[in-house]
Amino acid sequence: MRAIVFLLFVVLIFLIARFVLNRVIEIREKQRQQDLQNQKAQQAKTNDNPEEMVRCAECGVHLPQAEAYFDGKHTFCSEGHMQKYHSEHQNDNQE
Ligand SMILES: [Zn+2]
Repeated sequence: MRAIVFLLFVVLIFLIARFVLNRVIEIREKQRQQDLQNQKAQQAKTNDNPEEMVRCAECGVHLPQAEAYFDGKHTFCSEGHMQKYHSEHQNDNQE
């Protein structure tokens, strides 16, 4: 009799473990799908209203205009590249 109770207990544990595992997988899958949907929504948003990309005059990397440094004539990816470009340009003019 005790063996049957123990067996039932083991089966119950097994079923609970499986149930919990399934729930975890289900929740993860839902989150992943939600993330994918969010990404798609964001992509659609950016496609509808594309942020203008500009090119760094120093290294040629493309970046959103909002993150770029603008000196009135050229755009740069960083303040360092703006200064570097200006110093190089000045040297070119002097020569
Ligand atoms: Zn750059």
